[in-house]
Amino acid sequence: MARYREILKGIGVCDGIVIAPAYVVRRGGIDVVEKEISRAEVDSERERLSRAIRKTVEQLEFIRERIAKTVGEKPAEIIDAQIVLLSDSKIIEPLFEQIELELRNAEFLFARQMSRVIEEFLKSHKGNEFLIQREQDLHDLTNRVLANLMGIRHHLIGNPDKASVLVIPHLAPSESVQLLNKNIVAVVTERGGATSHIAIITRTLEIPAVLGISEATKKIGDGSRVIVDGHDGVVIVNPDDEMVAKYDEKRKILTARRSGILKLSKMPPVTIDGHRVTISANIELPEQVELVKKYGAEGVGLLRTEILFIRQEGFPSEEKQAEIYSQIANLLSPHPVIIRTFDIGGDKLFLYSGSNSRELEPNPFLGFRAIRIGIKYPKLLKQQLKAILRASAKGNVKIMFPMISNTEELKKAIGIFDDAKQELQKNGVEFNEETELGIMIEVPSAAILARHLAQYVKFFSIGTNDLIQYTLAVDRGNQNVADLYQSYNPAVLRLIKETVVAARMSNIWTGVCGELAGDPRATILLLGLGIDEFSCVPQNVPLVKSIIRSIKYTDAQSIADEILQCESQFEVLEILKKAYNELIPKDIAGIVGIANQI
Ligand code: PEP
Ligand code: MG
Repeated sequence: MARYREILKGIGVCDGIVIAPAYVVRRGGIDVVEKEISRAEVDSERERLSRAIRKTVEQLEFIRERIAKTVGEKPAEIIDAQIVLLSDSKIIEPLFEQIELELRNAEFLFARQMSRVIEEFLKSHKGNEFLIQREQDLHDLTNRVLANLMGIRHHLIGNPDKASVLVIPHLAPSESVQLLNKNIVAVVTERGGATSHIAIITRTLEIPAVLGISEATKKIGDGSRVIVDGHDGVVIVNPDDEMVAKYDEKRKILTARRSGILKLSKMPPVTIDGHRVTISANIELPEQVELVKKYGAEGVGLLRTEILFIRQEGFPSEEKQAEIYSQIANLLSPHPVIIRTFDIGGDKLFLYSGSNSRELEPNPFLGFRAIRIGIKYPKLLKQQLKAILRASAKGNVKIMFPMISNTEELKKAIGIFDDAKQELQKNGVEFNEETELGIMIEVPSAAILARHLAQYVKFFSIGTNDLIQYTLAVDRGNQNVADLYQSYNPAVLRLIKETVVAARMSNIWTGVCGELAGDPRATILLLGLGIDEFSCVPQNVPLVKSIIRSIKYTDAQSIADEILQCESQFEVLEILKKAYNELIPKDIAGIVGIANQI
């Protein structure tokens, strides 16, 4: 356990800085002892099992209701899956027979049955990231029933009596209501990735969280002081006073930035000399619509639909998809919602084969991903396009294809889009015939061919996350080459410029929906390069807006022109630093500067 300062790196899934004592919850599985029972005890053993199952279902229903009321209907559905499993006659009924046949105690038989279910489950979904998550849910369910059988309180996290950082191996969905406890001000877990249930729930509740720190419950002592930086995915254990002061400053500034700049969030994003751009938000779930409104984004510039597929454990029906897209479009109308067709593969989940793409392909980022899957399996893509088109009758919806790398591919995708329209027409289903199509520019070839691609679409949205990795040949998720992942490399910036120029020649607009759009250091540069739309996480909308409102477009253009001549990222950042010092009001520049220093 760390006595001295230790910096732990994990996955930051919800922004914000917290400095508080750790509240560490360690726990393992419940030990089950095999016991023989007499024939006379069979009935009471069966009764004990039914009671424990009934009690578990009641507890889960209660939790479900609380989650639905406080976090939303969607996260509550996670609990439904657990309730359904306990009503599965194939799993539960044999246990009643086994009690009589084997004359063994209910705990033993139930635990054995569940370990078979989990083993079966893992075999049929080998390597699938989301289903590993589901494995946790199955263990959670097993422990909950066992605790009820044995009369122990295994699931209670307890209530810290002062503001604390919950440090826990894993937080099951059924336990997420515990986060409503006001004294849990941040979360650190050993397991869970950016798309895990807990990531989604912390984001919805806006509780800073860092997930995936291995052995966090061993490395962090109960009650020890920790700094949780949910933005950078860092946890500092036993920080010295200097470090605390530094983060305290950063936290104050970020808090002030949130409240101060929030006031600006309802103002239009117009430069001093009257150039108007659009700032929209990137979201993944209907629950995030509230954040889009709160932070003053003008609609959604990127709706990542993969998460819907991940949550569903498969491809949701056209009906289900149409319902979700319509709900979002309707809530944000008249603002646009740009729905990106599924981008699975790469480092994201590949459900179609029930397996993880890294297992199937040596180079998944260069492999079977996104639109490539849609073209190979046109039925899936058509189903999604029909669902999106149906939502176009309920709000302002646009469609975007990911990972386009050549014109043939785009034409094929458009062919599938036309088929989708025809099918809906044939069946008399209402949709907006003028629904606009756009593409992501995230492969260098697409940026270079932008003037050709522009003829077929109504807008471009630059996916800088991938454009950087493909231009610089640096895996965006590999820590070993993280320093080579240069967001400000002039090669990337020139591709952005080429894209904008090509779009303007065809009178279409260009947005950026990669992380760079929400990086305040990049705002002047992107503005000067001619970006029309900035789409970023909702929380960053006000800051980007405040920078745009405090500069002249002509100044941003001159800065971008100068930057395009640079030979290195270092030079680019030097020019930007100077620009922020000279052109941006001190309070805003300070926030940007300090955010970079730590
Ligand atoms: C991008 O690549 O910049 C992007 C927005 O898409 P994703 O991060 O989902 O790959
Ligand atoms: Mg991408």
